[in-house]
Amino acid sequence: MNIHEYQAKEVLRKFGVATGKGAPAFTVDEAVKVAESQPGPVWVVKAQIHAGGRGKGGGVKVVKSIADVKTEATRMLGMNLVTHQTGPEGKQVQRLYIEEGTAIARELYLSMLVDRETSRIAYIASTEGGVNIEDVAHSNPEKILTIQVDPAAGYQAYVGRRIAAALKLDGDLGKQCVKMMGQLYKAFTDCDMSMLEINPLVVTKDNQLVCLDAKLDFDGNALARHPDIVALRDLTEEDPKEIEASKYDLSYVALDGSIGCMVNGAGLAMATMDIIKLYGAEPANFLDVGGGATKEKVTAAFKIITADPKVNGILVNIFGGIMKCDVIAEGVVAAVRDVGLKVPLVVRLEGTNVDLGKKIIRESGLNVLPADDLNDAAKKIVKAVKDAA
Ligand code: GDP
Ligand code: MN
Repeated sequence: MNIHEYQAKEVLRKFGVATGKGAPAFTVDEAVKVAESQPGPVWVVKAQIHAGGRGKGGGVKVVKSIADVKTEATRMLGMNLVTHQTGPEGKQVQRLYIEEGTAIARELYLSMLVDRETSRIAYIASTEGGVNIEDVAHSNPEKILTIQVDPAAGYQAYVGRRIAAALKLDGDLGKQCVKMMGQLYKAFTDCDMSMLEINPLVVTKDNQLVCLDAKLDFDGNALARHPDIVALRDLTEEDPKEIEASKYDLSYVALDGSIGCMVNGAGLAMATMDIIKLYGAEPANFLDVGGGATKEKVTAAFKIITADPKVNGILVNIFGGIMKCDVIAEGVVAAVRDVGLKVPLVVRLEGTNVDLGKKIIRESGLNVLPADDLNDAAKKIVKAVKDAA
């Protein structure tokens, strides 16, 4: 789960981390009020969307008067901000963050994540902050350093000193770095984060180490332990289909292709997506209805898939183990009765109550293309979509 920059900074400040001083604003008047409560003479107006690259897209402006705060706030609120992370459709700006200006001497890069290869928390540090880190990784990979933390020992000052060396911070700045890295480690583990990115982490002209941007991602499986973090969720930033799916406890991820998939079990879902690609089409989603899905859950899943305008065909691929094929069949039939079916549908059922499931589909009178195995099913749906196009 992602949160906004201003919320991320609030979370980090609770752990003592030095960030810029600022507050959110939902209207132009609020933006002006926040700016007036700050000393000036420089303010930064920042669009709050769940995507980076705002600076280049016109979503971060450094200004030198309250009048300009007003001008920029008026321009940004409601604007459709397009950055390299939003995709071409962009995101509508509904919140701003007004921060006191910082006089920057150097911009650094720092992030933390759970390194899957080593199963350890790792810091990633680079002196090349502010810019797109992907570009640095491409052109100057030697300028990005990874520093692992031994989970048994936890954060130790020597880890912070290694990061300080990587970031070329010495003397008092080195000390500030060791302290801040410890605070970030505590924040990361206490809040069950999966990712933390400070880009840029800056050295100010008066030699202070400050987080000027902050992006946090939390482990969805640990959210039950953090109601205060769940409260920061901004549903307008999330895919409505994914929100609807989460209401029914469906594992759903929207993708860019054209074939909607309804599958049970994550492994089978992956295999189904692979085989669709093998036959030359792309999946529109990943959807695992789970083991013990009810008719209502299957109906909801089917409706989410059909509501996606990108979907030109649907493949239902169920291996009935605990899940019964007749329940799937009833759910599909109920959903189609409700919302209609405007695209080809291939259903492949196997396992528990398969004959009953097939009978329900057959007797429903729906225009369903039956398939006997995964290979056959994938071929049929890809062909049907191509024929219809
Ligand atoms: P992003 O583009 O979405 O990653 O947004 P950032 O918060 O990282 O801001 C982009 C850039 O704006 C930073 O890399 C800085 O160069 C600049 N910036 C942000 N805040 C300040 C500030 O207080 N003072 C100055 N001079 N520049 C700032
Ligand atoms: Mn940034």
